[in-house]
Amino acid sequence: MNQFKYTLLLAGFILFLSSCRDETPVVFNQSDCPSGDITNLHLLLGNPSEATTNENNPNNYLMQMEEYAISYSRDRAIPNWVSWHLSDEWFEGNGTRQNDFRANPFFPADWNVPNSESFSGTGFNRGHNCPSADRLCSDNFNSATFFMSNMIPQAPLHNQETWKHWECYFRYLVDDDKEMYVVMGNYGQGGLGDNGYAETFEDENGLVITVPESIWKVAILIPKGDDNDLDFIDAQSTVIAIDIPNTNTVANFEWDDPQFITTVDEIEQRMGTGFDLFSNLPSNVQDALESTTHSTDPSFTPCW
Ligand code: MN
Ligand code: MN
Repeated sequence: MNQFKYTLLLAGFILFLSSCRDETPVVFNQSDCPSGDITNLHLLLGNPSEATTNENNPNNYLMQMEEYAISYSRDRAIPNWVSWHLSDEWFEGNGTRQNDFRANPFFPADWNVPNSESFSGTGFNRGHNCPSADRLCSDNFNSATFFMSNMIPQAPLHNQETWKHWECYFRYLVDDDKEMYVVMGNYGQGGLGDNGYAETFEDENGLVITVPESIWKVAILIPKGDDNDLDFIDAQSTVIAIDIPNTNTVANFEWDDPQFITTVDEIEQRMGTGFDLFSNLPSNVQDALESTTHSTDPSFTPCW
């Protein structure tokens, strides 16, 4: 084959390859936030409730952002779950905590949704799902965690003590050459905050907001790599599943008290029919991983 023909063939092959992938690969760069095709990363392990962007599906409404993905319930006025990728690139950098709690502007225009004051005076905190401290690579990425669609009414001591230690523990685990896929969610109705027990409260716009009964989080921890992360997950991977009642009294226990640690299968069952975590993993791998309980790393010191 002469060189001209070979060059043509090569050019054609490259054109063919580039037409196969219209996504830019995810780029991790220690000095910046991740960039490229990061939106789909947050649902790599699956969309546990098959949430959609159809506004006629208002109680399982999908919003995919660069910072995290969310399934929102309009009737509960809180997320069903929030899902995100976690590695140190997302939280090491030049960002600072923005504290700019505000209504998420990307909902359908006629929806009544929570704003920064909606939880005021209720005895519950505006509790982050995707934590502010997981997104400190830039001010803009941090600011996205302050959309009220990322918040649940969370018992203050649950938020500021027990849950805070778990959030810190997750960052501790990924810091050392690992990365993680996290999903946080909630179920039920009724929690115990600073003003006692409440099932719902109403804000100044007449929006009724559900206080969840229990708050859970699951994660898979894997070695850090540039390839398809699904290839790094097998039946021996580390899985963490916690489910902690939304009450101030949980802070009377150690942050990692065994009663808080559960299995993914238990959480799937409590969330109800059709709810499936890690649905993009082969079912034999799911079966193995979803029935295991985590033992916390004794070298971790809770952060205050
Ligand atoms: Mn299962
Ligand atoms: Mn599953």
